[in-house]
Amino acid sequence: MDKVVIVTGAGRGIGAAVARRVAREGYAVAVNYQRDAAAAESVVAGIRAAGGKALAVQADVAVPEQVRRLFATVERELGLPTALVNNAGITGRLGKFPEADPVMVEAVFRTNVLGLMDCTRAAIAAFRRGGQGGVVVNVSSTAAASGSPHEYVWYASSKAAVDGFTMGLGKELATEGIRVCGVAPGFALTDIHAAAGEPDRAQRVTSRIPMQRPAQPEEIAEAVAWMLSPAASYVTATTLRCGGGV
Ligand code: NAD
Repeated sequence: MDKVVIVTGAGRGIGAAVARRVAREGYAVAVNYQRDAAAAESVVAGIRAAGGKALAVQADVAVPEQVRRLFATVERELGLPTALVNNAGITGRLGKFPEADPVMVEAVFRTNVLGLMDCTRAAIAAFRRGGQGGVVVNVSSTAAASGSPHEYVWYASSKAAVDGFTMGLGKELATEGIRVCGVAPGFALTDIHAAAGEPDRAQRVTSRIPMQRPAQPEEIAEAVAWMLSPAASYVTATTLRCGGGV
């Protein structure tokens, strides 16, 4: 059976780096994107130019019907998924919880937690039909353990939910040959921080990182590629921090 992976939110940032990296492992890669088709097509073009197989597929992971369509399209065009990287994520704008817009908080949970669960449910169904197990890698955050006070408690809480899901589901599926793992980046300079709405935050956050520098998205992609690989065959129900010492 061919190796087929869906990487959500893979038009840019960490997701794009993951898509490029796992294509080098022989995966046919579904590059999921929400809005920016041109960015996703450019990731696909790069993978194809390097001799790999990839397809851009639009879907908002926060909308169950679109998740169903994403999986149906991937199965039709690339084959049954054998792996899923739940990378799509949003933070909402920086601020304190009591004043935060509840609609924004709900959107963060809808994408980071419920959307991730919907994708995972669809992936498990595909893995079971394929009969050869599968791997899910959830992109979490070191914020899950710090709580990110005064910044985005709701985002940190959503990632803590993701870590709990990884742990519980990994155990639930352990005898089925399906592994569920997580990778928790610390701080990587991607567009996600532009959305948070504080331009000089990068310097402040970097000063708290033991390695005194942000991650390159490619460094996070290495950890995800390892989690997906047979080298991690005895690793499940756990999340690896990839935070430069955070
Ligand atoms: P990014 O904003 O560049 O990428 C996020 C991607 O997810 C974008 O392409 C966006 O369009 C997509 N996305 C958002 N909502 C979506 C939806 N509903 N459906 C489909 N796609 C959607 O940010 P990034 O830093 O590359 O983030 C990737 C992941 O890494 C996120 O889960 C984020 O929480 C996590 N993370 C990032 C950092 C960091 O410092 N950059 C740190 C810890 C964790």
